[in-house]
Amino acid sequence: MSFVNFDPAELAKFQALADRWWDPRSEFRPLHEINPLRLEWIDGLSALKGRKVLDVGCGGGILAESMARKGADVLGIDLADKPLKVAALHAQASGATVAYQAISAEALANGCEARFDIVTCMEMLEHVPSPDAVIEACARMTKPGGWVFFSTINRTPWARLIAIFGAEQVLRILPRGTHDYRKLIRPDELKRAAGRVGLELRDQRGLGYNPLTRNFRLHRSLSVGYLLAMQKT
Ligand code: SAH
Repeated sequence: MSFVNFDPAELAKFQALADRWWDPRSEFRPLHEINPLRLEWIDGLSALKGRKVLDVGCGGGILAESMARKGADVLGIDLADKPLKVAALHAQASGATVAYQAISAEALANGCEARFDIVTCMEMLEHVPSPDAVIEACARMTKPGGWVFFSTINRTPWARLIAIFGAEQVLRILPRGTHDYRKLIRPDELKRAAGRVGLELRDQRGLGYNPLTRNFRLHRSLSVGYLLAMQKT
C-alpha cells in the first residue's frame, strides 16, 4: 500500500510542542481541561475498569493515562514519536501502567480484529487526510458490543468563528494554525462514516467553553466541538 494516511505537517505541529504536553498552562491546556469531562462521560457509558482499551492518536497520553488510572488496560498509539516518548516517560514517573506504540490505526488493525472493548479517538480525526480509514480501523479493532468514542470539531461557519478564530486568535488558548477549517468534520459525516462500518450511535455531547470563567463543559449543542459514543453491532 503506497498511500500513507498521515500529514507530515500535522505531525510536525505536535512534535514541536511535545515537551510541553503535560504542562497544564501550555498549548495543551484545553486537553487538560476537557479530560475529566470526557473521561467521566466515557466511564459512565462503558465502565473502564478491567477493559482492554485502545487510544488512537494518544499524543502525550493525557486521556490514555487517565483511563489506565480508572483500571483499564490501555494501549496508546500515535505516529508522532516525540509525544509518544513524553507519554511513556510521564507514565513511568507517575506510576501509571500504559503501553505506547508508534503505529497507525490502519496498520495495527491488520491482525488486531475485535481485540478491544473500547477504542477512543479524540481530537485526532481533524488532523488526518482520510478520517474514514481511521474510523474503519477503529471499528475493526473493536469487539462486537464494544464501544468507540470519537471527538472532533464541527465544520460550520460558527465553528470556524469559535474554534479557529476565537480559540486561536482572540483567546489564544490554541496555537495559530492548530486547526484547518477544511479538515473539520460535521457530526452527520462522522456518524455516516461510522455507520457504514457497523457502529451505532449511543450518545452525543457538545463541548462548550465559557471564556469568562474559562471553563469547558459538556452540553447538547454539537455546533462547535463534539463527542460521539458508538457501539459496534
Ligand atoms: N488524543 C489526544 C491527543 C490529541 S492531539 C488527546 O485528545 O488528548 C492530536 C494527536 O493526533 C497528535 O498526537 C498527533 O500526533 C496525532 N495524529 C495526527 N495525525 C495522525 C495520524 N495520521 N495517525 C496517528 N496519529 C495522528
